[in-house]
Amino acid sequence: MKTQDIMARLQAKYPGEKEYLQAVQEVLESVEEVYNQHPEFEKAKIVERMVEPDRIFTFRVTWVDDQGEVQTNTGYRIQFNSAIGPYKGGLRFHRMVNPSMLKFLGFEQTFKNALTTLPMGGAKGGSDFDPKGKTDAEIMRFCQAFMLELWQCIGPDQDIPAGDVGVGGREIGFLYGMYKKLAREYNTGVLTGKGSTWGGSILRPEATGFGALYFTQNLLHHAGKDIQGCKVAVSGFGNVAWGACIKALELGAKVVAISGPDGVCAIPDGITKEMIDYMLVMRASNRDRVEDMATRFPDKAQFTAGKKAWSVPCDIALPCAFQNELSEDDAKELKANGCWCCCEVSNMGCQPGAIHYFQHNGVLFAPGKAVNAGGVATSGLEMTQNAEHISWSGKEVDEKLHFIMKSIHEQCVKFGTQPDGSVDYVKGANIAGFMKVAQAMLEQGTI
Ligand code: GLU
Repeated sequence: MKTQDIMARLQAKYPGEKEYLQAVQEVLESVEEVYNQHPEFEKAKIVERMVEPDRIFTFRVTWVDDQGEVQTNTGYRIQFNSAIGPYKGGLRFHRMVNPSMLKFLGFEQTFKNALTTLPMGGAKGGSDFDPKGKTDAEIMRFCQAFMLELWQCIGPDQDIPAGDVGVGGREIGFLYGMYKKLAREYNTGVLTGKGSTWGGSILRPEATGFGALYFTQNLLHHAGKDIQGCKVAVSGFGNVAWGACIKALELGAKVVAISGPDGVCAIPDGITKEMIDYMLVMRASNRDRVEDMATRFPDKAQFTAGKKAWSVPCDIALPCAFQNELSEDDAKELKANGCWCCCEVSNMGCQPGAIHYFQHNGVLFAPGKAVNAGGVATSGLEMTQNAEHISWSGKEVDEKLHFIMKSIHEQCVKFGTQPDGSVDYVKGANIAGFMKVAQAMLEQGTI
């Protein structure tokens, strides 16, 4: 297999699918050498099959807004790969959602899920619906209209959606309510991220952020460092950033920045518990403005419009917002301001130039598919609890999450350790995930 040849074919076939092509290129570059040592993969055309989704559902979603006006959006579910388990992955509601974005996310999800040690295939879905400025009633009507189509494609042993950007506990509640009505079954295993009184796992809302910090701890420990007292810059203020801030604080780090599409809030003395709680209010307001934090806590947070979290000096950068949110110039600014570690929490949060810069300038870097896998891993734990009709305590879930993040770190070290002893976490995560999926596809024949 030659990455260049495959990429040329994909570029010709899917011109303009920028994010999808970027995600495929990164994985293929990482695995090319190992792949070519396995002629049986080449013979079965594993790579050619793996880069194409199994199937894509596209549907129209029509709903009525509070003014009584009819609105139309597009809904998608991309079932990417089911070699190691049923399709699993979140739903994203964001105005920029398109097939390229969901194909990149579904592709990444396949390897991420393989890293979790749990039996889950990869999928992603969502809509170009923009939650910004919508009322709760509008969100409910949209979720119901979306599920009216989606329910035919999903099932607890078939495809299990969850949240992602723009989809949290509130949306999962509305989606599940409509699913239940249509399916006429109380099938909690069909969605994850549910409320804890009706089948949701304790710690699922916190899990992506908590898992990211557990991974960071493992990485720092491996590098002979400690998170205690470190200054951390976090981008975003949604569910993932919220969980990351809670755990960073608990581990003795100081969160000195959070950000939003409108700018950054610098927090020189570190974020407090009260401020972290306020992040939930900001998310529920659908205003999508981080400035609200500085308005609410004027003595603690200073807002600067148009700036990113990466402009605030820190030791550790945690991108927690959106793909490609950290550019090469941001990476240079971070390094110049003293940053020595970047753990990508958002999916593909760093642009290729930024990753290259980190890796060649002594900044420890780990990719999203390893760092943020605690979210989907805890979804997997939620599925197990649903299948057994039980619920575990927070302590039990947290112990399992700890174990999973440690094991993901070990897989990265196993496949990513370089001759000089350093660890290439991008390579490690990609090879570990890829080998597992490739082997399963090979054993299941040409399908
Ligand atoms: N959207 C999350 C992710 O990117 C979670 C998916 C899930 O829980 O299924 O991994």
